[in-house]
Amino acid sequence: MLLGILKETAPGETRVALLPESLKSLVAQGIAVSVEPGAGLAAGASDQAYAEAGATIAADRASLLATADILPVVNAPDAADQARLKPGSVVIGFLKPLDAPHALDTAIARPATLFSMELVPRISRAQSMDALSSMATVAGYKAVIAAADRIPRLFPMLMTAAGTIPPARVFVIGAGVAGLQAIATARRLGAVVEAYDVRAAAGEQVRSLGAKFLDVDLGGISTEGGGGYAAELTEEALDRGRDLITRTAAHSDVIVTTAQVPGRPAPRLIRQAAVEAMRPGSVVVDLAAPAGGNCELTKPGVEQKIGGVTLLAPLNLPAEVPVHASQLYARNILNFLALILKKGELTVDLADEVLAGACVAHNGKPVNPRVAKLLEPANAPANLLTDAQRR
Ligand code: NAD
Repeated sequence: MLLGILKETAPGETRVALLPESLKSLVAQGIAVSVEPGAGLAAGASDQAYAEAGATIAADRASLLATADILPVVNAPDAADQARLKPGSVVIGFLKPLDAPHALDTAIARPATLFSMELVPRISRAQSMDALSSMATVAGYKAVIAAADRIPRLFPMLMTAAGTIPPARVFVIGAGVAGLQAIATARRLGAVVEAYDVRAAAGEQVRSLGAKFLDVDLGGISTEGGGGYAAELTEEALDRGRDLITRTAAHSDVIVTTAQVPGRPAPRLIRQAAVEAMRPGSVVVDLAAPAGGNCELTKPGVEQKIGGVTLLAPLNLPAEVPVHASQLYARNILNFLALILKKGELTVDLADEVLAGACVAHNGKPVNPRVAKLLEPANAPANLLTDAQRR
């Protein structure tokens, strides 16, 4: 059984799927590990460190693709790489099966067994494999750090002999995993934090972090879409949120916005007027940029100046924290691998709800019903973003 660790090729990607420290339990099971030269360099892991952990360094990428039985990855391999996969091999990673299902056609036809980390069911048993949450945590932290680095002010309140500096005011929109980490980070830096989410349940979590939860009367409509996620709202309900956001923006130095509805473009919540109402030097970080963005001015992947306000729309913040993002991701991957590797043998049991939920395709056939539907020729989604925007 050969497990391959590839060097990620997506522009700007610095993470690696497994680190040297991840290999102990795999090697102990008798699994051979082979690493593409330089795979972990950007995440601080040298070829030598992998070798010391028991891996061999592959001659080249093509031979690794052709011989590996299991390939944990961060991003989906491109079509040329997919065409080289060993038939029957298993690929696990952020494969974007709901955004771009047909980008996986070649791998499905090899056939390779594909597992998508985005599709791991968010149930208690699978929490340790929840890579979306791991990466959202990193992104929420880094969004606040990026904003603190940009604003021409200090975050904490300072009382000095030269006078008192008031704390920065941070407004977080969407108090899910990324939003809560943004709140916690901004609080640690001493900011005064307000937050808004359509899910009333988020209020308690926001307050427990020492931030103020802003309530909007949405007329009693249901805002929970199942599984703890938000539902898609009507334009009228969205407008009430937009009004609150415009009012709050006027006294905020930083907005970190994270609102998303699974499988839908991100809700447009921040009007141009809200950005224009902010003080010069203020910063908006739109973490929903990969799904189109929460701000109507957002251009995914592009940094803009709107008057005196900086609008950031990063597409891959976890790649700016490659060591810890890789460490968390590798742990999620290892926990997932434990479901398909028993004493060094590969066993794909699709009766397991976690495996069935995460499985894009097995033996040449789609497995997850949402993906299967999208792969029917008539149902290919209009991609949320172009490839250029995705980068
Ligand atoms: P997400 O990335 O889909 O959305 C981020 C936040 O945006 C959510 O809190 C959502 O309510 C909010 N939002 C959506 N539309 C909005 C709007 N119009 N206005 C304001 N806010 C809006 O969500 P997420 O961060 O991945 O997770 C959301 C929920 O799932 C949370 O309750 C979280 O605790 C839960 N969760 C559960 C598990 C698990 O059980 N294993 C794992 C992760 C997250």
